[in-house]
Amino acid sequence: MDKLIKQITTSSLNLVEPWYVESVTFDSTKNQVDCCVSVREGSSFHCPHCGGVAQSLGPEPDEQVWRHGDFCLYPTFVRYRRPRVQCPKCGIQEIPAPFEGIVYPFQIPLRKE
Ligand SMILES: [Zn+2]
Repeated sequence: MDKLIKQITTSSLNLVEPWYVESVTFDSTKNQVDCCVSVREGSSFHCPHCGGVAQSLGPEPDEQVWRHGDFCLYPTFVRYRRPRVQCPKCGIQEIPAPFEGIVYPFQIPLRKE
């Protein structure tokens, strides 16, 4: 069941390697579903601005929280940290998640909690 939920979440978020669904949990005190999305360790990225080779700096310090469509009628939230890179031309850049910038009728970016 856990594998199926991760597959559904991966598909609904258009995640591709090295992005993956780390966990999907139900918080019974808040009556909500939390999806933790992460990036495989050791992954490398090019600068999202100029496309040049960039050095990995690890994840950003602040967690991003996006509202996803409801899962079985429960509000669902996607939590993740963007990887950061140091580009020689552009400086420190954050790598957006695959679902950022795509307008879904069922996703609303939220402020950090
Ligand atoms: Zn750059």
